[in-house]
Amino acid sequence: YTKKHKTHNYAVYSEELDQRSAYKLSIERELKTAIAKQQLVLYYQPIVALPNTKLSAMEALIRWNHPDLGMVPPDHFIPVSEESGQIVAIGRWVLYTACLQNKAWQDQGHPPIKICVNISTIQLHQPNFVQTVKSVLEETGLDAKWLELEVTESILLEETDSLKQSLCALKELGISLSIDDFGTGYTSLSYLRQFSFDRIKIDRSFIEDINNELKGKAITSTIISLAHRLGMAVVAEGIEDEAQLAFLQSERCNEGQGYYFSRPLPAELHDLPRLFNPSRI
Ligand code: C2E
Ligand code: MG
Ligand code: MG
Ligand code: MG
Repeated sequence: YTKKHKTHNYAVYSEELDQRSAYKLSIERELKTAIAKQQLVLYYQPIVALPNTKLSAMEALIRWNHPDLGMVPPDHFIPVSEESGQIVAIGRWVLYTACLQNKAWQDQGHPPIKICVNISTIQLHQPNFVQTVKSVLEETGLDAKWLELEVTESILLEETDSLKQSLCALKELGISLSIDDFGTGYTSLSYLRQFSFDRIKIDRSFIEDINNELKGKAITSTIISLAHRLGMAVVAEGIEDEAQLAFLQSERCNEGQGYYFSRPLPAELHDLPRLFNPSRI
């Protein structure tokens, strides 16, 4: 490398960096009004019991209906909102909207199911988070047993007392807790020993590997038996075909979720009577 090259590389890099932070800043600025402008929407993806494929839960997945950009996926704005702290307000909106929707389904006479809501680390670390969940349940009238919070594995790295206390207080409310993206993060086995989650969700990457290589099968079946021996149920994420489903059923996986059953859809587009009829899903 000559000095000239280096300078040139640096210039390009820094320009890219500027563009990226400009993009982030504009996302951050526009996110401020997204809730008020009613641009945030929740899609819902069915989770079905195995082997009967009966609907057992829906996972709420956020999208940003942006006037110029169209439907922005969560990966494009959730990390920005976590950095800026906006996730706290967004997360409360998600929790409230998802619980209200689940209560509405129940009030329409559908058999009760759980609503699963993704929770960011930042939210979980708010000192008043347990109180927030409690008041959302009161405001929406949803019974706590129909709410499940999905916690992403990376947060569990911190085995702090305050985190453990929050998780215990959440369970005392009567809600359930699951570990999302299991197998990709950093959950230590000692954490599983100290604190009991209701379910773990096996990350989609392992389900994808079921068809490709033997290791996917070995890892998936080992996670299932580990979870079962610890008294937790298992959900497989990202089931896309019959072969994956057949394998998961042979391993006694409790629940499944994925495009094979249904993509995430707005609440009004779900044909609930059909989803509740296991023979026709
Ligand atoms: P996640 O919680 O692991 O959610 C599952 C993701 O996998 C969703 O992506 C879903 O659309 C996708 N998926 C489901 N089945 C299949 C399949 O069969 N094949 C493939 N290829 N993908 C499938 P999505 O909706 O883009 O969400 C991405 C991530 O964003 C979520 O991963 C979650 O961690 C985060 N997220 C979504 N909504 C929220 C939210 O309200 N709050 C927070 N904090 N995070 C959220
Ligand atoms: Mg999830
Ligand atoms: Mg998640
Ligand atoms: Mg996941």
